[in-house]
Amino acid sequence: MSTSNTNIIIIGGGIVGMATAMLLKQKTKYSVLVIEAESGLAAHQTGHNSGVIHSGLYYKPGSLKAKNCVEGRERMYRFCEENNIKHDRCGKIVVATDESEIPLLKMLEERGIANGLKGIKKLHGEELTEYEPHAAGIAGLFVAETGIVDYTPVTNKYGEIFNNNDGEIQTNCRFLSLKKDSSQLVVETTRGEFNCSLLVNCGGLYSDRIARLCGVEPGLQIIPFRGEYYKLRKEKEYLVKNLIYPVPDPKFPFLGVHYTRMMKGGVEAGPNAVLAFKREGYKHTDISIKDISQMFSFSGFWKMAAKHYKMGFKEFYRSLSKKAFVKSLQKLIPEIREEDIVPGGAGVRAQALEKDGKLTDDFRIVEAEKMIHVLNAPSPAATASLSIGDKISELAIYRLK
Ligand SMILES: Cc1cc2nc3c(=O)[nH]c(=O)nc-3n(C[C@H](O)[C@H](O)[C@H](O)COP(=O)(O)OP(=O)(O)OC[C@H]3O[C@@H](n4cnc5c(N)ncnc54)[C@H](O)[C@@H]3O)c2cc1C
Repeated sequence: MSTSNTNIIIIGGGIVGMATAMLLKQKTKYSVLVIEAESGLAAHQTGHNSGVIHSGLYYKPGSLKAKNCVEGRERMYRFCEENNIKHDRCGKIVVATDESEIPLLKMLEERGIANGLKGIKKLHGEELTEYEPHAAGIAGLFVAETGIVDYTPVTNKYGEIFNNNDGEIQTNCRFLSLKKDSSQLVVETTRGEFNCSLLVNCGGLYSDRIARLCGVEPGLQIIPFRGEYYKLRKEKEYLVKNLIYPVPDPKFPFLGVHYTRMMKGGVEAGPNAVLAFKREGYKHTDISIKDISQMFSFSGFWKMAAKHYKMGFKEFYRSLSKKAFVKSLQKLIPEIREEDIVPGGAGVRAQALEKDGKLTDDFRIVEAEKMIHVLNAPSPAATASLSIGDKISELAIYRLK
């Protein structure tokens, strides 16, 4: 138990919390404490993702996602170079497989150009195979700025730099509640009480709940969407050189099942986007009554369900049927067979949902008295972490002046 006053406490040792913490200690002399519920950093979204350094192709020009992805991507490449973290700016292809996708592909190209991408190349059907010999489609884009990295070593490096600058990390330390007095905040955790002048909530899948525990009504709710992966068998890895993506459905913030060469080795196929019945529910059988009842009692959930139930059922079916999953994969690589893939891991996305049933499209950062809450930081927040962390650290510095 610590009673001494810390200037800033950050909840959450994922990539967003750790980028913010590292940058704060590099910029200021403030004391900064990170509290993390798990026994190590990057235990949830950050350690269970596709490991793609996104280019900025998909996001609405002018949005926080677009700006932070483009800036964060280049900062991520530089950070990896300076800190000897394995990464590869390998590029990716996006493949249109039928005529109805051509206007969407064009929209992606326009967005990419508006977002400042210089490495987009339009591909005719047969040109796809110059980049990915086993891919098939009627048209596509090559995006040179995309790359791959493993975000766990990146986050651990943020932590190491933070520690070397006298930052403190408490693991196995779950935020429970907050008391306020006139001059400071008293943060109650499973490891006792800590005092601070400013609290930054980077709690990912629990960020809305943490905000409520702090007396802040976020006006949205985190809905967990599990992303399940298969892995290509070793002897079939030759089918994928780098990254092969479909044209995404513009109604959803998810990119569609794709093939990704992983920096730690192997090729993953996925992730789908299945409604999870537990916030940290990595398996079908993971269920939390508290999480389900909170989800079902949120009016936005039923509005979303009414609009997207067909897609929801399709995702459940594809999650349970390997055949259906392979059918999606065959759109991109026709020769892939059920026996070529084996189950891989899963990640759970913290996707915010508005009261009107719309999935929150952009990053969302909300300020309150002595607090900053990061309430929506889904993909590409890992790519964008150094840029988002920069913005949050600037806000924090301004608030403590
Ligand atoms: C399947 C999947 C694929 C993705 N692919 C990509 C990709 O290729 N590229 C990309 O840029 N992004 C990708 N993303 C998105 C990216 O992983 C996230 O945007 C990013 O990791 C968010 O980081 P975070 O720090 O906000 O959240 P998290 O990594 O989830 O960190 C939040 C932390 O808060 C802690 N915490 C929660 N509650 C408490 C509490 N009460 N007290 C203390 N600590 C608490 C948790 O234990 C956790 O460590 C993907 C995400 C998923 C799920």
